Amino acid sequence: MLRTVSCSASLSSASPFFRFFRHFPRSSTAALRGPARNLRRISSPSAAGRRVLLRRGLRVSSAAAGRGVNGQFSRLSVRAVATQPAPSYPDVSQDEAEKLGFEKVSEEFISECKSKATLFKHKKTGCEVMSVSNEDENKVFGIVLRTPPKDSTGIPHILEHSVLCGSRKYPVKEPFVELLKGSLHTFLNAFTYPDRTCYPVASTNTKDFYNLVDVYLDAVFFPKCVEDVHTFQQEGWHYELNDPSEDISYKGVVFNEMKGVYSQPDNILGRIAQQAISPDNTYGVDSGGDPKDIPKLTFEEFQEFHRKYYHPSNARIWFYGDDDPVHRLRVLSEYLDMFEASPSRDTSKIETQKLFSEPIRIVEKYPAGRDGDLKKKNMVCVNWLLSEKPLDLQTQLALGFLDHLMLGTPASPLRKILLESGLGEALVSSGMSDELLQPQFSVGMKGVSQDNVQKVEELIMNTLKKLAEEGFDSDAVEASMNTIEFSLRENNTGSFPRGLSLMLQSIAKWIYDMDPFEPLKYTEPLKALKARIAEEGSKAVFSPLIEQFILNNSHRVTIEMQPDPEKASQEEAEEKSILEKVKAGMTEEDLAELARATEELRLKQETPDPPEALRCVPSLNLSDIPKEPTYVPTEVGDINGVKVLRHDLFTNDIVYAEVVFDMGSLKHELLPLVPLFCQSLMEMGTKDLSFVQLNQLIGRKTGGISVYPLTSSVRGKAEPCSKFVVRGKSMAGRAEDLFNLIDLAFLCLQKIYFSFMLYSPVRLCLLLDAPNVFFCLDCEYNHSDWKTGFVCRDIIQCNPDTETDSINRMNCLLQEVQFTDQQRFKQFVSQSIARMENRLRGSGHGIAAARMDAMLNVAGWMSEQMGGLSYLEFLHTLAKKVDEDWEGISSSLEEIRRSLLARNGCIVNMTADGKSLTNIEKSVEKFLNFLPETPSGGLVTWDGRLPLRNEAIVIPTQVNYVGKAGNIYSTGYELDGSAYVISKHISNTWLWDRVRVSGGAYGGFCDFDSHSGVFSFLSYRDPNLLKTLDIYDGTGDFLRGLDVDQETLTKAIIGTIGDVDSYQLPDAKGYSSLMRHLLGVTDEERQRKREEILTTSLKDFKEFAEAIDVVREKGVAVAVASAEDIDAANQARSNFFEVKKAL
Ligand SMILES: [Zn+2]
Repeated sequence: MLRTVSCSASLSSASPFFRFFRHFPRSSTAALRGPARNLRRISSPSAAGRRVLLRRGLRVSSAAAGRGVNGQFSRLSVRAVATQPAPSYPDVSQDEAEKLGFEKVSEEFISECKSKATLFKHKKTGCEVMSVSNEDENKVFGIVLRTPPKDSTGIPHILEHSVLCGSRKYPVKEPFVELLKGSLHTFLNAFTYPDRTCYPVASTNTKDFYNLVDVYLDAVFFPKCVEDVHTFQQEGWHYELNDPSEDISYKGVVFNEMKGVYSQPDNILGRIAQQAISPDNTYGVDSGGDPKDIPKLTFEEFQEFHRKYYHPSNARIWFYGDDDPVHRLRVLSEYLDMFEASPSRDTSKIETQKLFSEPIRIVEKYPAGRDGDLKKKNMVCVNWLLSEKPLDLQTQLALGFLDHLMLGTPASPLRKILLESGLGEALVSSGMSDELLQPQFSVGMKGVSQDNVQKVEELIMNTLKKLAEEGFDSDAVEASMNTIEFSLRENNTGSFPRGLSLMLQSIAKWIYDMDPFEPLKYTEPLKALKARIAEEGSKAVFSPLIEQFILNNSHRVTIEMQPDPEKASQEEAEEKSILEKVKAGMTEEDLAELARATEELRLKQETPDPPEALRCVPSLNLSDIPKEPTYVPTEVGDINGVKVLRHDLFTNDIVYAEVVFDMGSLKHELLPLVPLFCQSLMEMGTKDLSFVQLNQLIGRKTGGISVYPLTSSVRGKAEPCSKFVVRGKSMAGRAEDLFNLIDLAFLCLQKIYFSFMLYSPVRLCLLLDAPNVFFCLDCEYNHSDWKTGFVCRDIIQCNPDTETDSINRMNCLLQEVQFTDQQRFKQFVSQSIARMENRLRGSGHGIAAARMDAMLNVAGWMSEQMGGLSYLEFLHTLAKKVDEDWEGISSSLEEIRRSLLARNGCIVNMTADGKSLTNIEKSVEKFLNFLPETPSGGLVTWDGRLPLRNEAIVIPTQVNYVGKAGNIYSTGYELDGSAYVISKHISNTWLWDRVRVSGGAYGGFCDFDSHSGVFSFLSYRDPNLLKTLDIYDGTGDFLRGLDVDQETLTKAIIGTIGDVDSYQLPDAKGYSSLMRHLLGVTDEERQRKREEILTTSLKDFKEFAEAIDVVREKGVAVAVASAEDIDAANQARSNFFEVKKAL
């Protein structure tokens, strides 16, 4: 689970759409695996500004988010280790290749990723295969097809969903779901881009890997959906009519997924910009599907699209890892040999968009709520298409670098000037994007008043001119360069498979018939760029780029978006009237037939596959599963009375460290101020350093830093775990560098960024190539930390050769952070409001879950105060208070610092090789000595809760988020490992079938927090409300009536173990171990849980049914939904919900 990134469509039309919304359970198996995700991380107010940077392709972020590298670089982020002799990997001889029907086109050793890569061509069909061999056990396979749509009916997206619904060899309803249930995959999903569709899988187990490969190949080339209209109806769209007397409605998974996408202003802006900037080619339409156009799609067009593009001649296939390269070709030839060459490779070519001779301007409306000051809710964004021709790698790198310089960190001039102008609340849609055929650049703001729209545009243009004329500060250039180099060196893709990250880099060129090797080799171009900067100066490098690609480029599109409180209801009314016309045009027989067809589809969806059919989907045996959990070497010691955990692991010369402070002395009322405290520390500067200087200092000298509060329940304890974590990393090459890390820890106390752990998809996304950053934004809200969500990740560069500042100086910084900048603080508040509002629309299920948790336990309450609806309410009050009582706020910030920073209750966690661990000790000691012994203020008791009640939170939306939760420990239920298996089974069967497949929601899942005992049900982009609650309530009966055979059970067990054993890079291992330590999860307990998982029986399911009934009987329901649906629900069920307005 850690591993799969999920679905959910993305923020801009350029982002890919995923097949399924993968929910990351908060803690179901967390205790076994490292509960990182289980803990609530609270978002940084600064996240908003940074996040938006990411949304378009360039995944920039900053020294800020992500890897602090913008896409240009992150797409190249493979390890810079070069100069080693090429190790020998198993080879495929020309002969062997020939025998299997392939010819070797070219072959290279790529030192950046220590891999031997060979490009093959299937002789008969022309299908190209990149076969990458190395020592990575996390094997990756991917098949990518060029699928340019001609209209916005969403064909490629619907097809992407549908091909995984049964195939020739695997004729069950959803082999994909069977794989989700019962494989050890480290990645499993599918995604649709504006011009291509990707089907990637990954696993560390070779047998499992080839099972996945075969299911995917069969699905892509021989899907059942092209013969079976039911799949098209289910995944795409259909008319639903339960009874001829009722109204007809539209249903369909993609239909509702896209309704959700089209309910978010940021998404709408991204889509409009994408389409306006490339009106003449395939990018002028939406591959995901416009809900207005989706119902125009016919089954015949759908079939034709598959026939045309899902052909080996139009496919590019990727293999990566330590498996046998000959076997790869053998597996492929079985499939490819069945085809003759087709012209699809030519017909799928992406046309170039010719550059405009004049800039254009577009004004559009977006659906807004009625509350709040609508005058201040305009959005404006300026976009450029940079070039007609593809750029060479050197220019691309330089543009990526430029992007980072202009927008990458809070101190970057373009970003800083826009935010400080007070003209808008936050940046939107900003950055370079190079993932499609032609690169583009966008920058804009949201939360802009009507009178200021023009001013924002002028400010953007004037700032760009000024930058071209004056160039960049040399400290800033150095900081950016260091950021980029560190990330290249570290090559940390989090839980996202490295091989997949490389595939996405390679495919970004390969898909346009360019060299697939080139994007993997960045060392030389980077060196050349560095040399040029050193020789000619940065101005000579960057100013001409700004002039040529931006200022003198007339292919410019300005988009202005105005809020329209009528739009949502208008759209709803339009849809209704279309459906009424449809109904009026039907005879009685037609209606009866439609009701019959609806029932037929529903029955088909709800009828499980027969066990014999399911047997065709390959699966592992229990004997393939290791009996013991993975242990992380952990040595617990002590430095000056502070507990220190050391993890001796190979980290390629990087030291990872966490310093954990206790929040036990923080006053309750200060809690909601903590996220802003973090941002203030980071972005206000000190007595001696302006915030820009501070930022650059960090950029030049440090490695990577993130800070965030986290809270969790602890099983068996009333007191929650509430901590404040500082994470950092640095090169360990020299003692000073080690010491740097500790400096980092100091620095981050001024410069606090919120991070999303290694586990989080967000982080994954950030580490990835462009597309992922898109979904990153979505993940950020939707998946990862769906409980309290938030996110942004900042990494600050550490130069391995950096000179060392005296620790005293750092200490001094720490002491001297000035909480005095009222104007900056105001900005932080408005950015936070913008971010929270976006979250409400984009991941209402997270808001709902946080709300329920806040009613059910203290840790949930704390987290909701720092990232839920309560937090948003607090921010609104605070926005007024900044003007009235700045003194008071400023002293509260001081008080937070005094309450948090102390040696008492502090824990240090370090991950590196043994030698580095020893070396770093002195620095840790110095660091600790510097901290005050005890925090100011006495210990407080955390005991807050929200009142228990059913709540409906009103937002302008076309689809809902519906939750219900209760505490199963209150029934006397005692935690058993089987609970993980059972909750996974409930998600993958009962909820998947009812909430998603027949209910038409994009996602439906449950989550069991083993620390608190809270069991929650949630739905995502859901057209229903009460109906979904009824499904949740039926769960107990579902379990009681369940009859699973041994094979199904085995599958569920293996799938659960797959989650528990998720693949982790060394830093993640060390971090997991820390989390287990904080939550009191021992290795003995993990072993016991594992045994309980492995021996789960049907009896456990039945027993669990009794416990889960508590949710039905005593649980609370929270929905984030439209006013219409809430009204209807309250009418149908006598004011079931207390109504709360949010937007
Ligand atoms: Zn989708």
